[in-house]
Order: sequence, then structure tokens, then C-alpha cells
Amino acid sequence: MKNFVAGNWIDKSKKIDVKNPFDDSVIDTVPRADAGDLEKALAFAERGAKVMAKLSSYERWKILRKAADMMAARNEELGQLISKEEGKIIAEGRLEASRAVETIMGSAEEAKRLHGETVPLESDPGGAKKLGFTLRVPCGVVAAISPFNFPLNLVCHKVGPALAAGNSVIVKPASDTPLSALKLTEILLEAGLPSEGVQCITGSGGEIGDALVADRRVRKITFTGSREIGDRICRMAGIKKVTMELGSNCPLIVMPDADLDKVAAAVAATGYANAGQVCISTQRVLTSGKVYSDFLSVLKPKVEALVTGNQLDERTKVGPMVREADAIRVDSWVKEAVNAGARLVVGGSRLGAVYTPTVVADVKPEMRISCDELFGPAVGVTPFNTIEEAIAFANDSVYGLAAGIFTENVEWAMKFAREAEAGNLHINWGPQWRADLMPYGGLKDSGFGKEGPRYAVQEMTELKMVVFHLNS
Ligand code: NAP
Repeated sequence: MKNFVAGNWIDKSKKIDVKNPFDDSVIDTVPRADAGDLEKALAFAERGAKVMAKLSSYERWKILRKAADMMAARNEELGQLISKEEGKIIAEGRLEASRAVETIMGSAEEAKRLHGETVPLESDPGGAKKLGFTLRVPCGVVAAISPFNFPLNLVCHKVGPALAAGNSVIVKPASDTPLSALKLTEILLEAGLPSEGVQCITGSGGEIGDALVADRRVRKITFTGSREIGDRICRMAGIKKVTMELGSNCPLIVMPDADLDKVAAAVAATGYANAGQVCISTQRVLTSGKVYSDFLSVLKPKVEALVTGNQLDERTKVGPMVREADAIRVDSWVKEAVNAGARLVVGGSRLGAVYTPTVVADVKPEMRISCDELFGPAVGVTPFNTIEEAIAFANDSVYGLAAGIFTENVEWAMKFAREAEAGNLHINWGPQWRADLMPYGGLKDSGFGKEGPRYAVQEMTELKMVVFHLNS
């Protein structure tokens, strides 16, 4: 596919191969943009911001609404594309495509709801004869940098609210999975978006990322990706608005009163979806010592039953990781834990980029499989004695994106909700659950700022305060 820069679809002789991670076959190529292409995009976006700011919210609603309808009609095509370029199983590809429709639809709705409010200045000792109100205005140029693991929906979580708020957007998708973002660009243009509204530039983040985020014409950066790159972007960005959606090593606490069948089903569902490459994947299962061995016995067959293989085969439940190198890394972390005294319950083998769903028991909090973000199809199980100890283990992380607890005890559930250091908390489910309309984002090194269209449009706008000084 080509890039969409400065109102034109452009190609380049330098390319990036986009590969199907299951068999390493090249499914398409995209241009490898350089500093010159980026400069064109930035200059055009600055002009584009003025065009976008002139569109009424009704016009923005209409475009996004139409784009959502077009995406819904093309669900199968988009689902297949996501699955092929990313490696997630086809059912998850289709689900992501459907969720992306909701994200764009939700963004359309927010275009209509954006408004300022009156401010009761007369309540201030010096506020007599003053009339005050706020105006919400677009930021201008938004740089949207997205990760490989949800190549369509996470791009929609940035582009949808940015356009709803009247900005011009430059999308820089992940180099492993750029096709869905380019397809979204096509759809938005077909839905009537002015060509000044969106640009999609593919190229190595390491080569063009610094220049994009440091540029003063960019007024807002919305980034989803790893903590390391997020940290770099924050340092490079200078004075501009930034949203950071970063990684995690999400915990799930299993209290002694939990229904172990339900917990095991939840772990099998939330620890291995997209081969564990979900920022809110269940990674650390903290289990009460009273039910520890019973839980492992119930969990083992459920994880063993997850069929691995080609992601496009409807029978497959866990497909390849995005790169073979990642499967090799997961394997080495599992082996490292086992060599340090942890116990392999199930899994632990690799074929190319496919890593077998794995459970490791007796994991110590200091092991890498527990304290770093694994981002792969393995969970570590660790015993605890009291809820205080469980919450302390859960919070013993630089991350804080999502966490879960299984219990029938309301007191324990509320204690967890109050004390667990995470942005999204789940009672009686694993940490990996999201509705696209809810406020979503992390604490601590998992980032700051919220996504979910209603919350993201706030981050994609500036608030101006207007004061009328009246004579009477
Ligand atoms: P990544 O390596 O950090 O890359 C993310 C994006 O940043 C890519 O588009 C990448 O481009 C770009 N990039 C690389 N270097 C850059 C630089 N110096 N300046 C600007 N951009 C740069 O992350 P990933 O491996 O794609 O995704 C996995 C990570 O994302 C995990 O840590 C996961 O937890 C996190 N994640 C978080 C959320 C959330 O909502 N909190 C959701 C999904 C994923 P290239 O591909 O060209 O290198």
C-alpha cells in the first residue's frame, strides 16, 4: 500500500515488508518514509488544522458516522487484514474490526457533544458584572503513534477523537502492522473527510519518530506502545499535550472463596488472547495458598486445550506472536524462571513464532516473568497468605494499567478497588476486559491520560476561558 501524505497517495523505492507472522510470507509492502516525507506531512498538517477547525461539529459527525457504517459493511475484509498482518486469530481479527466501528461511532457522537460551559464569575469577590464561559477548541495538529497489537482499533481510538475534536492528524502506525491504518485512511477519505484532515506515514519509528514528536507544529501527541519508547517521546516532546498508553504486567488475585472453574476459564481467556500480546493480559496470577494446588489442577487442562497454529484456521485459539524473536524471548524468560526454581505446569515449547500457552507455578515476584512486561502467552502463578499480601504483590510493579480479583466477599472486593494501583479494576474477571466507551488508561509507568472517545476528545482539545466585562 502507499502512504497518504500532503493529500496524495505516494510510493517510494525504499520499502518495508509487511509479513504474516505465521509463515513469514510477505503480504504487502509500504513505503519507508524519511525526514523529507515527514517535513511535507508536518507542513501540510499545519494548513490542514485550519481546514479542519472550520468544519462544523455536525459535518465532523456526518463524516465519522459514514466511516463507521463503511467499516461495518467491510468487517470481514478488515478482520482478515488485521489477522494476516498481526497474527491474531481470525475471530479476534473480526472482533477488533467490530470494536473499531464502535470506536469511530462513539467518536462521531462526541463530535456533537463537545461544548464549553458558563463559569459563575459573580461568585468571586471581584466578579460583579462579569460574564464568563469556556470554549473548547481543537489542539491543531495531532501526532498519533500506534503499536502493532491492535492495528485498527487502537488507531481508531486516536484518529476518531482527534477528528471529532476538529484536528488534523498524522498517523504513524507500527511498522509490523501498518496496513489496517492505511485502510482506515482510505475509508475516512471515502467517507468525505477533507484530505487535509488525515495523513498516514509509514516508516521506522527509530528513524522518523524523534523529528515527529519534537516538532513544534505538533500540538498533541497520542502514543500507545512500550514504556521505553513512551519515556523517550516524553523527553523529546517539549511543551505540548501528551497522552501515554503504555505497557503492564497485570495481576489477578484469586481469593480462597473464588469459584476456581470460573477463575481458570477467565485466566485461559484473558492470559492468552492475541498470544498474550495485549497490554492488559493477565500475567501474574496471585493465588491464595488455601486453594493454590486445587487452582493449578483446574487451570492446567483449560490451558492445555488451547489449540495453537495458523491464525486464519477457524479452529486455532492461539496464533503466532508478531515476530519469532518475541517467541524466543518469551521462551528464554520462562526457562530463566524454571532455572531459578519455578515449576513448568504446562506449555513451554515453541515452533517458529508460535509459543505454546504456558503456565509457570511457584513464580517469585523478582523473576523477570513476573516483574517485567512479558507480552506473551504465559502466566506465572504465585501463592499468598492474606489479602494485604496479595495487594502488596499486585502493587509491587512500576506498572499500573489493569488488575482483577476473584472473590464473593464485598469487603475484599472494595479493599482491592481502593488499594490496587491500576487504572482499570475488575471484580470477578481477569484484567483483560475493555469496552471501547469506558475511560481507559494506566497509573504509574503505564502512562497518563485516558482513551475512550468521551475522554479522549477532552485530551484532543484546549479549553479557552472567555470573560465579558459588562457595564451594567
Ligand atoms: P513500541 O515498540 O513502543 O512501538 C510503538 C510505536 O512507536 C510504533 O509505531 C513504533 O514504530 C513507534 N516508535 C518507535 N520508536 C519511536 C520513537 N523514537 N519515536 C516515536 N515513535 C517511535 O510498541 P509495540 O511493540 O508496537 O507495542 C507493544 C507495547 O505497547 C507493549 O508495551 C504494550 O503493553 C503497549 N500497549 C499499550 C496499550 C495501552 O492501551 N496501554 C495498548 C496496546 C499496547 P516502529 O514500529 O516503526 O518501530
